Amino acid sequence: MTVQEQTAARCPECAADVTFAEPPRLSELVECGECQVELEVVTVQPVTLAPAPEVEEDWGE
Ligand SMILES: [Zn+2]
Repeated sequence: MTVQEQTAARCPECAADVTFAEPPRLSELVECGECQVELEVVTVQPVTLAPAPEVEEDWGE
């Protein structure tokens, strides 16, 4: 048996398969090809995606 690195995960928004050219890294941001939502890699074994947090324009105090 060989363990292959996972290069696909499911979009939490539309359930489409999101594929990676190479094994994703933790906290990597990817865009779903189906719904164009921005996703963050939250775990890598297995690969799990979650919607990336919105970036606030004026985050400072
Ligand atoms: Zn999607």
